[in-house]
Amino acid sequence: MIDTHIHLNFEDYIDDLEIVILDAEKAGVTHMIVVGIDEGSSKLAIELSKQYPNLYASVGVHPSESENMFEMQATSTAFIEDMIQENKVVAIGECGIDLYHEDFHLDYQKEVFMNQIELAKKYQKPLIIHSRSGVRECIDILKPYQGQVTGVFHCFNGTLEEADEILSLGFYIGVDGPITFKNAKDAKAIATHVPIEKLLIETDGPYLSPEPYRGRRNQPANVKYILKALAQLKNMSESDVDDITTQNAKTLFLLP
Ligand SMILES: [Zn+2]
Repeated sequence: MIDTHIHLNFEDYIDDLEIVILDAEKAGVTHMIVVGIDEGSSKLAIELSKQYPNLYASVGVHPSESENMFEMQATSTAFIEDMIQENKVVAIGECGIDLYHEDFHLDYQKEVFMNQIELAKKYQKPLIIHSRSGVRECIDILKPYQGQVTGVFHCFNGTLEEADEILSLGFYIGVDGPITFKNAKDAKAIATHVPIEKLLIETDGPYLSPEPYRGRRNQPANVKYILKALAQLKNMSESDVDDITTQNAKTLFLLP
């Protein structure tokens, strides 16, 4: 199993990071991609990837952080270009569009996102996309780059039609804890609809804990509950779902 989206660089894990990583290994997690949301957390993701053999890093600016940059009038995605050269940096992100909160600056978010798409194209790295309430915008921004960039729509919560558009752009779709929730009809429908060859599993820890740990701090070991729920939805064995989703992550992120 590979946890393709985890924030072990957040302070939530400061006290027991080693145990969290050990528990993940015990659960059968072989690789974890530690995802940055700004310069500091991206730098920390790289540092962690140097300390632990099974950690990899993604570097980028999250759309909510670009809102903070707007407030501070400090546009900078330049750090990504320095960090991308590091050995275990396997992706750019998370980046994208987030229109969940009311007072967003779409043009600014777009600019920061497009800078990162250009870097993904230049360095041929996959994008980890955050698209909360902004799936339509992300798809429209990515369309002109079809065939030139790839990546994953992490924690996807759009429609089935949008999922199809994303697949036709050559992107993968990330599934998370909600597919284990009894009443999460939409998340289950997406996971059922999208071919297993185009799905990645991820925890998005510390957020979105799956059942039976809903509401608690999430961690990479919990990716096994997401795998289990996905196997049920797909009517497949857990080991087949494990093999295929692991291969998907290795293919996209060029993991060993
Ligand atoms: Zn995230």
